[in-house]
Amino acid sequence: METAANKLELYDVTIIGGGPAGLYTAFYSGMRELKTKLIEAQDQLGGRMLLYPEKIVWDVGGVVPTRAEKLLEQIIQQGMTFDPTVVMNEQIVGLDKQEDGTFLLTAASGNRHHTKTVIMTCGYGIRKLAKLEIEGADRYEVSNLYYTVQELERFRGQRVLISGGGDSAVDWANELAHVAASVTVVHRRDSFGGLERNVSMMKQTADVRTPYAIKALQSADGKSISQVLLQHVETGEESTVEVDAVIVNHGMRSDFGPIRNWGIDMGEWKANVGPKMETNIPGVFGAGDFVGFESKVGLIAGTFTDAVLALNSAKVYMDPEATPYAYVSSHNDRFKEKNKELEELQKV
Ligand SMILES: Cc1cc2nc3c(=O)[nH]c(=O)nc-3n(C[C@H](O)[C@H](O)[C@H](O)COP(=O)(O)OP(=O)(O)OC[C@H]3O[C@@H](n4cnc5c(N)ncnc54)[C@H](O)[C@@H]3O)c2cc1C
Repeated sequence: METAANKLELYDVTIIGGGPAGLYTAFYSGMRELKTKLIEAQDQLGGRMLLYPEKIVWDVGGVVPTRAEKLLEQIIQQGMTFDPTVVMNEQIVGLDKQEDGTFLLTAASGNRHHTKTVIMTCGYGIRKLAKLEIEGADRYEVSNLYYTVQELERFRGQRVLISGGGDSAVDWANELAHVAASVTVVHRRDSFGGLERNVSMMKQTADVRTPYAIKALQSADGKSISQVLLQHVETGEESTVEVDAVIVNHGMRSDFGPIRNWGIDMGEWKANVGPKMETNIPGVFGAGDFVGFESKVGLIAGTFTDAVLALNSAKVYMDPEATPYAYVSSHNDRFKEKNKELEELQKV
């Protein structure tokens, strides 16, 4: 019988989400010789690691302190080792189990994907930066209103105002202290997130104004923000600050969208999985920030272990006779040719 599913190429594993968990799952899936597809909603791979490109990451086993963007480059390179099919700009919204046990995934675009197993590595869902809720603020996004700090140098010698009180706002204030002419931090509460040491450091170097919120953005030339009008949250008293750049860090809004209706047993932010990363839907597994279990480690390192467990479970789900985990690289034929190439290039 001709169905929508059998017109599509069937994959063994389809991974939803191209952050560190999805990328490592793609690598490991290749190691286990599975036909693999990785689908990412954004136009870049990396997930939440894209939020802190300049941060020096210290806590990944076997990796000396490395900037997140460099580490991400390596995670992507490793993820592509066995040439998985990668689909970008594709938000998956639908999951339908077919009579034969395979799955049809539907994207917001209407595209469909056919797969024997699904590994959910979609973190906290689709991520959107919380924007400044001031009418017309978006017109300054092309000039000097920023929602992330991609490059500290961009702010060299500038008077920077940061709005927000989370740990990223505190980190940025401290890092910009070495580069900017001045840093003003505006927060609607008196308390800040992040390590106490970082908050104290920020208070020593930045002009911290609490409890204040941005009331208006003012422009001398109609193109960029030159002054910010602040309002005291309790008294309503107003003051202005001259600026060259405004950075807003009001956190992220994440949303699973229709994934919540797929029947996966999940709390507000985490899917409940068993010790083999299995969800309550046979054939659907999870890894990384998407999953919750008692000993969950919400770090890059944790996503790697989850990924191995989830992929091995998917392998055994498809082939109950399969070994429960991959052979180490010295006994895995998939690496023989690749080792030869690397040795010839003297890259190892
Ligand atoms: C500011 C900050 C600093 C951090 N610092 C560190 C650190 O120093 N060390 C450390 O170990 N960890 C750190 N972390 C945590 C680490 O980044 C996360 O644990 C890690 O990114 C989780 O990876 P993940 O792949 O599970 O999820 P994510 O990185 O969130 O990736 C999920 C991906 O899934 C995609 N997606 C979501 N829904 C769909 C859908 N429906 N269809 C298709 N794609 C979808 C998203 O677009 C995203 O790309 C930090 C996090 C933040 C926010």
